[in-house]
Amino acid sequence: MKVWQEVYIGLGSNLSDPKMQVLKALDSLKDLPNTQWVSHSSLYSSRPQGPQDQPDFVNAVALLKTQLSPIELLDRLQAFETSQGKVKKRHWGERLIDLDILLYGHETLHTERLIIPHPFMIERDFVLLPMAEISPDLILPNHSRIKDLISELPEGFIMTDRKVEKS
Ligand code: ADP
Ligand code: MG
Repeated sequence: MKVWQEVYIGLGSNLSDPKMQVLKALDSLKDLPNTQWVSHSSLYSSRPQGPQDQPDFVNAVALLKTQLSPIELLDRLQAFETSQGKVKKRHWGERLIDLDILLYGHETLHTERLIIPHPFMIERDFVLLPMAEISPDLILPNHSRIKDLISELPEGFIMTDRKVEKS
């Protein structure tokens, strides 16, 4: 029997009603096969990382338990992105919806299509804060504590004055 893995998915959008796009993607995640829904974070507003001539983002993190393999999960997430209308524009640029696999149990993976843990997650408050909201005592595969990573962040993108209400 396949094992159930705890998986954290990062969601982000800054086009076409970003809050609605993130909520729609959260709903899609609830329909994944061989997967149990656990929880999701609040929605956070963040200023863009990378090119600054683009709208602000809405971000969230979801926690699931799944029997899908990492690549099966990536295929499903990319199908959701495409059906929701994602078109790749530029690196770290604007996007209708972005679904990233942040953590897949305690596994580490480095293939052409998939790097887990997600390579940039530890630099991003808009990933770490929602993760810590769901799992305050989380420890990453490299043994870092989520709280320590947050306290060591050099810069922040979340706009605390513009909280998106919890759905
Ligand atoms: P961006 O890097 O700007 O977010 P995309 O979301 O289009 O752009 O992702 C580009 C590629 O990143 C995908 O085709 C996917 O194969 C790869 N990738 C590598 N690691 C991951 C991961 N952990 N989660 C999601 N995609 C990943
Ligand atoms: Mg992506």
